[in-house]
Amino acid sequence: MQIGCACGKVSGRVEKASSKTVNRIRCYCRDCQAGAYLTDVDKVLDSHGGTEIYQTSPALISFHHGLENIGCTRLAGKGLMRWHSTCCNTAIANTLEDRKFAFVGLVHTCVQSPEMGDARDQLIGAQIFDVNTGGAKNGPIKRIGQRRTIFKILSGVLKAKVTGTYKMNPFFDAVSGKPIVKPRVLSGEESAAIYQKVDQD
Ligand SMILES: [Zn+2]
Ligand SMILES: [Zn+2]
Repeated sequence: MQIGCACGKVSGRVEKASSKTVNRIRCYCRDCQAGAYLTDVDKVLDSHGGTEIYQTSPALISFHHGLENIGCTRLAGKGLMRWHSTCCNTAIANTLEDRKFAFVGLVHTCVQSPEMGDARDQLIGAQIFDVNTGGAKNGPIKRIGQRRTIFKILSGVLKAKVTGTYKMNPFFDAVSGKPIVKPRVLSGEESAAIYQKVDQD
């Protein structure tokens, strides 16, 4: 599956993308909604405040071009690392701070496969699990598959830890384990302003 930024400077792929390797979720949590404001919020969020995310193993992800155009922002010191392109501000992915917790949530805006729609459904499955639906806007959304997706992530994380494949992660230096760029952490004021927008919307 092809991934990259909107302007094409950053490009890469997810190997072996299938319904077995990729969890397709839509998250409605307040943090994801706030994270969307770091890039193009109208492209990232749907009308219910949901973000479609493809959760997969970092070892399956690689970037061939434009790694130098990847930046990282955190809403708070302990928050998720939110990766985006610096060339055209496309939301790319979310990771945790510790690469040993080997999972990446690719934001749908970075999936650049020309084979959109049906072909994407065929590749990674059409089923989308709606999680953290308590934060959904414009009518209730039914929660689907939250436990199942968490279980799938945790088993992948455990496997990566045991086999050492957690070290294969394009967002972290293989040797030092440090993020490839120093994340920018928003100030308390900056993140408060974003959360205010989320709550007003
Ligand atoms: Zn770009
Ligand atoms: Zn979320």
